[in-house]
Amino acid sequence: MIRIILAFILSLSMQTLFAANYAGKNQLINSALEVYLVNVGHGDAILLKTESKITLIDTGKADAVETTLIPFLNRLGITHIDYLILTHNHTDHIGGAKRIIESFSIGEVLTNGTKPNDSLYREVQTAISDHHLPSRVPSYREKLFVSKDIWLDFVNKEMGSYSFKDENNNSIASILNYNKLKIFLASDLEQASQKKIFSQIKTELPSDIYKVQHHGSKKFDPDFIKAINPKDAVFSGKIYPIGFPSSKTVKILGKDVGARLYYNDPQTIMISSDGEKYSVGNIQN
Ligand SMILES: [Zn+2]
Repeated sequence: MIRIILAFILSLSMQTLFAANYAGKNQLINSALEVYLVNVGHGDAILLKTESKITLIDTGKADAVETTLIPFLNRLGITHIDYLILTHNHTDHIGGAKRIIESFSIGEVLTNGTKPNDSLYREVQTAISDHHLPSRVPSYREKLFVSKDIWLDFVNKEMGSYSFKDENNNSIASILNYNKLKIFLASDLEQASQKKIFSQIKTELPSDIYKVQHHGSKKFDPDFIKAINPKDAVFSGKIYPIGFPSSKTVKILGKDVGARLYYNDPQTIMISSDGEKYSVGNIQN
């Protein structure tokens, strides 16, 4: 996969809207895939935009959704979300889900299938049933197509179970595939699930871009990170040492692996790709 280093002519797309504010070290390209790590403060909200489908992976916290995520989606003219993926039942991932369900039409909800006995989980489930939304747990290694040639490959076998006592390890994790591009989306996986994924699909892990586990937590398995071996690593979090990322995570990705590091706080990260080349950079929220 070639990371773009030359200027490309932009066509009419949301890139045009953001081009003036794009602060990548390379140039935006004319892409069929746009991925945004939306700055929602502490939390995940990842938007996948293709020519045919809108996918939202997590919603950030309840107290940030009105001022960050919903205005961002409105700005992109989004009214319908085909797939709402709720990776696990923590407040910084599903806190905004109820308001998203109330504010947009939703095609299908995908969850990790655990059923914690807490009010946030019940609130989200009630919103799903009140709006008569289909909801299911994706299958291990299922391909979820978000375009005819772009798909998510679900790689955490523990979805739909309580195999790990820590909810983070039961997170929906996926590899986004688009021709030569691979982006590993790790949600909040910790060591136990990383080790298991490494043992199961080690040779399939190498990816161009890595959405770093658990906001840059130090709870990582070095073999797992080194197998992914990304050229670019994107954090839901602030630049180290200001924010959450652990110095150990910054070191293994930035020094040992040699990836370029990007943070979505204070500015949303945008990735764009045509399946041959890709660009990464920050845009204004
Ligand atoms: Zn989290």
